Amino acid sequence: MPPEKNIAARQEKQPSAMSRRNFLKAGAAAAMSAGLAGTLGAKPLAAAQTTSGAGYVKSKLHSRIDYGGATVRYVEHNDQWLGTSQILGAVKQYHEADQGFYMANRGKYTQEAQDCFYHYHFVMKHPFNNAIATFAMSLMPDQMVSGTPAAEKIPIPDPEQMTQHIKDCAYFLRADEVGVGRMPEYGYYSHKAPSQDDLLRDDLSNSVPVTERLPYVVVVMVDQHLETMLASTGYDGISAAQSMRSYHTTGVISVILADYIRKLGYNARAHHFTNYAAVMPPLTIAAGLGELSRTGDCTVHPRLGFRHKVAAVTTDMPLVPDKPIDFGLLDFCRVCAKCAENCPSEAITFDRDMVEYNGYLRWNSDFRKCTEFRVTNSEGSSCGRCMKVCPWNSKEDSWFHTAGTWIGSKGEASASLLKNIDDIFGYGDEQIEKYHWWLDWPERYGPPQH
Ligand code: SF4
Ligand code: SF4
Repeated sequence: MPPEKNIAARQEKQPSAMSRRNFLKAGAAAAMSAGLAGTLGAKPLAAAQTTSGAGYVKSKLHSRIDYGGATVRYVEHNDQWLGTSQILGAVKQYHEADQGFYMANRGKYTQEAQDCFYHYHFVMKHPFNNAIATFAMSLMPDQMVSGTPAAEKIPIPDPEQMTQHIKDCAYFLRADEVGVGRMPEYGYYSHKAPSQDDLLRDDLSNSVPVTERLPYVVVVMVDQHLETMLASTGYDGISAAQSMRSYHTTGVISVILADYIRKLGYNARAHHFTNYAAVMPPLTIAAGLGELSRTGDCTVHPRLGFRHKVAAVTTDMPLVPDKPIDFGLLDFCRVCAKCAENCPSEAITFDRDMVEYNGYLRWNSDFRKCTEFRVTNSEGSSCGRCMKVCPWNSKEDSWFHTAGTWIGSKGEASASLLKNIDDIFGYGDEQIEKYHWWLDWPERYGPPQH
């Protein structure tokens, strides 16, 4: 059969029967239109767009953004809000060296944390993590992330089509989710961290200011791997490899994407695990891929929860940005606190409400405690308990979980219900041995030997 006839025949054979999963989603849409979702509060929500809303830029390779079962609304980006995060004043840019791991490296925390961070010991002590991270380091040089664009700009008569094309490039390169946002100026670091030697001496005098200001950001997200997470506990050798898996993949995608955009004549810089000039959470929110969570500055995606990493490409290529999203996470985190209950370092707050921090509202969690625990964890490589227990991280592709997240995005009462269901079914505490594919070397998990 000629290809075009084959496609037509396949289109005719689309099943008319609705799967249970789609039935639940259709039920969600019907309930929403019947006004069962409750009030929306004071957030500046866009007109009721849904994941299938008209006018939303769609990718040809990934035609529907997969938010799992969550009901997602779109939020206008303005000076008072970044997604559902309220901006109260001037958000100050900060030095990359003030980020938790660099603080450990500089000796601002305990001596043990500095020793363990040095040369990423907490990652490198497991040989598989070491192999992935070593490759990720090869993406570090500045010439990998930036460069001079081609002299001639390719004309872009239809920025919407170009946006779709750039997303498809990222999906082709194996991204799981892609979003485009307006780049918030406070998303850039004030300075890049200096060399490892300077950090160890806590000497920031050679830090280079970040001067780039580009209007758009493409954010690429990669899943950390469901089955591996189902078998892991945070007290094993694979926890850091889950991060490294997504860090190196998003790094590769961002480097190629930035180079491609420069070859089309536009400025573009990749920001990834081993070479950032920007902070990822505000970019992730701006690109419609998450909301700020109870953990402080980490974002949760409606389907993947924390089970992802992102990299980004800032650019002046004319693109059509997506809108930030609201899937009810703020109400959910207010009553859930499952990550706080399970955090071994007690880094995550149990406070009900957010507090002002650097000009915006967020939960008052303590990244120092988290960093110290992760770099010194003598029973494993890093941690990831909060990632595993969060009810938004899709534990399985089932109607039950889809229905659960639909319920969970409907306000505080339903959040409490989903959290209880999640607990009853033991989600987050499971350790499914059949997926334990990696080799452990527990004798290597201790502190570095001098
Ligand atoms: S990674 Fe571990 S220590 Fe850090 S916040 Fe999550 S659960 Fe707590
Ligand atoms: S575990 Fe609960 S409180 Fe923590 S980030 Fe996830 S939804 Fe929010």
